[in-house]
Amino acid sequence: MTTLEKVRQRAEADAKTYGYYLHPDPEFLNDLLEGLKKNEERYGYPSCPCRVASGKFEFDRDIICPCDYRDPDVAEFGFCYCGLFVRKDVVEKKLPIHSIPERRPVEKQARAYAMAPEVIEKPARATVGVAEETAQVKKKFWYCKQCGYTVFREDPPYICPICKAKRELFAEITIGAFVRG
Ligand code: SF4
Repeated sequence: MTTLEKVRQRAEADAKTYGYYLHPDPEFLNDLLEGLKKNEERYGYPSCPCRVASGKFEFDRDIICPCDYRDPDVAEFGFCYCGLFVRKDVVEKKLPIHSIPERRPVEKQARAYAMAPEVIEKPARATVGVAEETAQVKKKFWYCKQCGYTVFREDPPYICPICKAKRELFAEITIGAFVRG
């Protein structure tokens, strides 16, 4: 069974290998590690705690931590999309952590959202239409209008973990066109 300590050790070892550091805020770091642990238990692999995974290994390969987007993000911004891996200048407080653009193509994000097992309940009938399926959506895709942080859950968070915006600043992302595509 995956333990939080194991997830932490793995992240620390990986950071060391690449000359990175982990997020300097222990509470925030803990949340990210918890997210990785939960995803590993749920899917069998540690998909990114800040992104929606489809539950299909091949499809999610690019967002298994450390994801394909980490190194270009650290090189360009100083930290990865979640902020788990950071550069030395971030730890030294020379560079603030803020929201950064998502490199994962939006089509992949939308497809993952449509494929995620928790998103859509199994239709009662095999012939159920896509519109009927989407009406059974339980969780939603939310984004922070202030910083662009995205999260997949029933309700938006009370506080944005990235920019600390209040819940009112979250809006739902509707991607019906992709779901139906
Ligand atoms: S964004 Fe960071 S935490 Fe998320 S998968 Fe990539 S490296 Fe891991």
